[in-house]
Amino acid sequence: MKALVVIEVSAGVLSSDGLGIVSRLAELGGEVEAVVFAAGDEPELEPAAMAGAAKVSLCTHAAILDVPVETRAEVIAALAAEMRFDAVLLVQSATSVAIAGRLAATLDGGVIWDITDLTLRDGALWSTRLIHGDTTMVQAEWLGGPGIGLVRPGAFEPQERSAVPNLVRIDPIPWIAGRKTLCRLVRAGAPAQDLAKADVIVAGGRGLGTAENLELVRDLAEALGGAAGVSLPLVDMGWAPRSMQVGQTGAVVKPRLYIACGISGQYQHRMGMERSGTIVAINTDRAAPIMAFSDLAVVADASSILPQLTALVRARRG
Ligand SMILES: Cc1cc2nc3c(=O)[nH]c(=O)nc-3n(C[C@H](O)[C@H](O)[C@H](O)COP(=O)(O)OP(=O)(O)OC[C@H]3O[C@@H](n4cnc5c(N)ncnc54)[C@H](O)[C@@H]3O)c2cc1C
Repeated sequence: MKALVVIEVSAGVLSSDGLGIVSRLAELGGEVEAVVFAAGDEPELEPAAMAGAAKVSLCTHAAILDVPVETRAEVIAALAAEMRFDAVLLVQSATSVAIAGRLAATLDGGVIWDITDLTLRDGALWSTRLIHGDTTMVQAEWLGGPGIGLVRPGAFEPQERSAVPNLVRIDPIPWIAGRKTLCRLVRAGAPAQDLAKADVIVAGGRGLGTAENLELVRDLAEALGGAAGVSLPLVDMGWAPRSMQVGQTGAVVKPRLYIACGISGQYQHRMGMERSGTIVAINTDRAAPIMAFSDLAVVADASSILPQLTALVRARRG
């Protein structure tokens, strides 16, 4: 089995989710290569080799992450066609979903998304995914052209293997030249902290009552040196960007401490945070589902207790 993994770069560092996919495939005995797109300084590529990539293709250009996704899709498709990969795997995100769709059309391959595990059966790659609102687990194989897989963030941890990176540089100019140019890039507010890597997360839900009360969650997160997260309804109501959402269709997190404020703990939220070290729930309803799987269940009004907690933390930290 020969696979190509697309590894994202954030602040010059390769994403641990992408490295985790490389490690999983290497663990299965696959022949794994990686492709990295970078716009600024060249990222350190050794972690990709350490994770198990036999070859890393680096494609750098100041605008590579700003031009439409079709450019990246074309570079990946060219690599996949030339090297005859059995599978191309990406970490699931709004961008990678768009890339995967283009790859499927170009390479005549099928897309499997929401992947939580990868296995080998008789030399063929199989995926495990959750369906029906994550209530049913299925295993699926790609048939026909190269398999294109979208793996849920947090599915695999990178494992260290020692290797020397075999680096190939790709010049993206032929792909970018003549493409649509970017007129204006609109960013959705300040970039959110990387929830998946946060040591402490304070998350707010519908029980906060108002968008303004989300500031109380942000204040406590900041006082604890952590990140702020939200449940899906707050994204749907436009109170917070999608990048802050925890859960089945958001980020899967496992911080040392997760404080859920006004969150009921429905299954779709729970599956994104239940692997946290210590879970504290603040809820007015002692029968809310989250109270049953929290380490500490606080029956209180979140908007009253949050400022007090923040003041206490700040006083302790000086
Ligand atoms: C396919 C699918 C995917 C989904 N993906 C996600 C996902 O990724 N992430 C996600 O979060 N949800 C997701 N959902 C939605 C999920 O099912 C729940 O509807 C959602 O998590 C509920 O959010 P909540 O807990 O903030 O709101 P609610 O369920 O309305 O809970 C609010 C809680 O606040 C408490 N409360 C009320 N007032 C106060 C107060 N003053 N102080 C303290 N507590 C108070 C209430 O007792 C209640 O427990 C998904 C749903 C579907 C169908």
